Amino acid sequence: EETIGANLDRTVRDFPDRDALVDVAAGRRWTYRELAADVDALALGLLDLGIEQGDRVGIWAPNRAEWTLVQYATAKIGAILVTVNPAYRSHELEYVLNRSGIRLLVSAGRFRNSDYAGMVEEVRPRCPDLEFTVLFDGPRWDALLERGRLADPAVLARAAAALHPDDPINIQYTSGTTGFPKGATLSHRNILNNGFFVGELCGYTEADRVCVPVPFYHCFGMVMGALACTSHGAAMVIPAPAFDPAATLAAVEAEACTSLYGVPTMFIAELAAPGFDRYDLSSLRTGIMAGSPCPVEVMNEVIERMGMTEVSICYGMTETSPVSTQTRADDSVERRVSTVGRVGPHLEVKVADPRSGRTVPRGTPGELCTRGYSVMIGYWGEPDKTAEVVDREGWMHTGDLAVMDADGYLSITGRIKDMVIRGGENLYPREIEEFLHTHPDVLDVQVIGVPDAKYGEELMAWVRMREGAEPLTADAVRAYCEGRLAHFKIPRYVHVVDEFPMTVTGKIRKVEMRAMAARLLE
Ligand code: ATP
Ligand code: MG
Repeated sequence: EETIGANLDRTVRDFPDRDALVDVAAGRRWTYRELAADVDALALGLLDLGIEQGDRVGIWAPNRAEWTLVQYATAKIGAILVTVNPAYRSHELEYVLNRSGIRLLVSAGRFRNSDYAGMVEEVRPRCPDLEFTVLFDGPRWDALLERGRLADPAVLARAAAALHPDDPINIQYTSGTTGFPKGATLSHRNILNNGFFVGELCGYTEADRVCVPVPFYHCFGMVMGALACTSHGAAMVIPAPAFDPAATLAAVEAEACTSLYGVPTMFIAELAAPGFDRYDLSSLRTGIMAGSPCPVEVMNEVIERMGMTEVSICYGMTETSPVSTQTRADDSVERRVSTVGRVGPHLEVKVADPRSGRTVPRGTPGELCTRGYSVMIGYWGEPDKTAEVVDREGWMHTGDLAVMDADGYLSITGRIKDMVIRGGENLYPREIEEFLHTHPDVLDVQVIGVPDAKYGEELMAWVRMREGAEPLTADAVRAYCEGRLAHFKIPRYVHVVDEFPMTVTGKIRKVEMRAMAARLLE
């Protein structure tokens, strides 16, 4: 029952001298008192420019501390932050700018081979709503803060008093794993509560230091990262502008982080990083793996080799702010590595038959549906698409397949769109991937369905080999699986690759894999 700004103010009063934000790459840090000063200056600067409650402010940049300052400054004045994927290029940027009517865009100048400033200039003539652009490190950024520092703080207090927890505060685009990204509109209530409960189940206090290498433009970074930290007085540590396994491990060591986040592919990269054993990770207690299926093998290694004994798996989606289920430190290790836990506080879940909508018995797979404070306001400007996923009773139909056990623990068995139907048999790639992960030469594996004249679909495994291992053949995979997997679950094709096609959030784009596989088989 609070706005994000009010919640931050409370933490600042409680823990003024604690670290709030550490930007390792930039070598800068903010205590909560310093964070509040910059956030308020920026918020006043935005008000002074004429940005008002409900206006859309875009942010398009790699991770850095100022990204988070913008997140809180917009929340304080009730502007709607539109978080734009930093991997987008001018065409996609133009789409998002126009689609969400962005008045002010904050961006980076240049990062590696991305000329953000150049792309903004390129699209500007075709974006009539875009009045202002501000680049980090540019003169306008400094001017904005400077104007804010000179402004009357009472103006900010008045703006804050007009806000309500149910106001939209964020338009967040989905990862685009299954198609074109959709803009989920989220309120203070949606994301602040979600961040708070995720942090609570991780046991965060002001003593925690959370290393966040996942992209900020996505809920994982800005909600489970920033909001979980600020709502508990913990510090958020930003290892690098874009994910880098060595920089992440170094940041954990240098900043004595107690918690580390990542999608499974990030943990896999860290565990395989050269010199892994030389990093001192003994400060780690907990962390979160989420975003896509978390292989049991990888979870076990994270617990044993990284010392993250209390690590959680979270399951969720952008449309639900994001987390719906989470494992807890007091769950059995078995459950903490193999399930996505139980439903989060003040939320409901059900597993339903996708056709009839009726709840299925425990142990039977069905579509996972979630309901409660976390469900988005809707897709921005797309009421029809919203109605396709959120029903009249408020249930969000996730499109994910799950099984609930007798004690309420959920396992995600796949996505409805990923399910493979081979000769009438429903196959869940997830199960086969889990099994192939146990092969000693396999670093990572993904299984997809490919068209087949005889069976309708056949299974194809894409495999990344461990360093020094011989590439696996289809025969070798068959030999490994025979006697341990039903014959119809054994992949017919095996394709060895260096990388999978991925989204910036580190998710594997199976749509793209399927298209590539079709070409391979031509
Ligand atoms: P799009 O909706 O644009 O296709 P997306 O669904 O990948 O992309 P997100 O909202 O970022 O975009 O991701 C949510 C999805 O990620 C979930 O629907 C689920 O399929 C998957 N996911 C998240 N956490 C887990 C988890 N712990 N285990 C398995 N899958 C997960
Ligand atoms: Mg989705």
